[in-house]
Amino acid sequence: MSENRLPLDRFHDECGVVGISGHPEASHLAYLGLYALQHRGQESAGIVVRNGTQMHVHKGTGLVADIFGQDVLRRLSGRSAIGHVRYSTAGDSTLRNAQPFLAESSRSQVAVAHNGNLTNVDTIRAELESYGSIFQSTMDSEVFVHLLARSRGDLSERLTDALSRVRGAYSLVMLCDDTLVAARDPYGFRPLSLGRLGAAWVVASETCAFDLIGAEFERDVEPGEIILIRRGRLRSIQPLPRVEERFCVFEHIYFSRPDSNVYGQNVYQTRKQLGRELAKESPVEADLVVPVLDSGCAASLGFAEAAGLPYETALIRNHYVRRTFIEPEQSIRLFGVRVKHNPIREVVAGKRIVVVEDSIVRGTTLNKLVSLLRTAGAQEIHVRVSSPPTTGSCFYGIDTPTKKELIAANHSTEEIRKMIGADTLAYLSLEALRRVEASMKHGFCDACFSGDYVALPEEATDDQLPLFKG
Ligand code: AMP
Repeated sequence: MSENRLPLDRFHDECGVVGISGHPEASHLAYLGLYALQHRGQESAGIVVRNGTQMHVHKGTGLVADIFGQDVLRRLSGRSAIGHVRYSTAGDSTLRNAQPFLAESSRSQVAVAHNGNLTNVDTIRAELESYGSIFQSTMDSEVFVHLLARSRGDLSERLTDALSRVRGAYSLVMLCDDTLVAARDPYGFRPLSLGRLGAAWVVASETCAFDLIGAEFERDVEPGEIILIRRGRLRSIQPLPRVEERFCVFEHIYFSRPDSNVYGQNVYQTRKQLGRELAKESPVEADLVVPVLDSGCAASLGFAEAAGLPYETALIRNHYVRRTFIEPEQSIRLFGVRVKHNPIREVVAGKRIVVVEDSIVRGTTLNKLVSLLRTAGAQEIHVRVSSPPTTGSCFYGIDTPTKKELIAANHSTEEIRKMIGADTLAYLSLEALRRVEASMKHGFCDACFSGDYVALPEEATDDQLPLFKG
């Protein structure tokens, strides 16, 4: 028997944040909110709660349900709390880097949880270190705490000062002494919503967190807005210069949960619409539409509906797959692939199949699925992708590989078709994606598809540099 690593055909999600103010069970609610946001990060999770004048933190690696038991939550009593689920988009992946990040100075206590990615963090860090700041982690989120500690004035002035220094993407929740703070960068790259639960205020990356705790959606935190909540009262300031909105389209395509409303639009319905557009743009004679579970489901349904074809979940996914598995000595054909997906032979044999996927990144998933379907006797396999070719990395909080690993950055659609072994391959056009998003009346960031980047990193890595040149 040998231990093997499952090929990483999925990348890692970004992060999710929650904040609660003015509720006697704040940490329980934060825990449930994180539970709902688990899809946004599975590497680590943490909660900071404020009780009286003290803040307490509990963090761990793994899933929310494994990190927080009843005893832990009982110990975390208090009326305000923030929480975080993480997969790293910056910094390495040790417990040291789990969030929220809590810091105490002689003047105050600050806890911060951050979703996003700062693009000038190395410059700020170097500057802060030259003034004597000592960093405890490699997370970009820690710079918020140091910047706040060095700022002068009341809390809103200190926040304004700190946030005007950072560039890039941030949707933040913070506990600054007795105040819950929620802030979103001026472009609004990542989502952040505000809700109410009785007299308490709630903030979360996605509205599915509100549904679980029975909170009512109030509104989104505006791009560039800083919200301060203290003793039940909410104050909003917009001190940062206004810029064009750049809400991440990939939240709608892949990241967010389908039951969330992101940027005022339900994610499931948006994905379905992308699928309908795809069917209109790239129709094909076929017998069945089969989704790549789970993120391809809604787009497949839209495709099937518009194409008038039956929808079958004929590629079953094992949801309990870990990164490593023990392989038998005698190799089994397609073993590694079947660990995760298995086609239903009885449904696919002899059929012309449209496989609908939300995105192709390195091409690994589809390459395997197409060969599985062929082995199961599919007659024709037509791949349809409900987003345009991913040709650029993300610098705003989504973990995408470098440009040289992105299959569509280096190969034509016809070359990719051959590489994955499909009979036909078509992507949704950028125009169709923009049409669907435009109906929401917001400005969007689709740089990973269009190359239209704003707020580029001040510090690009060698790997990423060609992106800016080419
Ligand atoms: P690949 O197999 O490399 O082509 O990756 C495509 C698969 O990964 C699709 O099933 C997507 O749903 C999923 N995916 C795309 N982007 C990401 C991301 N940033 N993190 C996690 N999964 C992703």
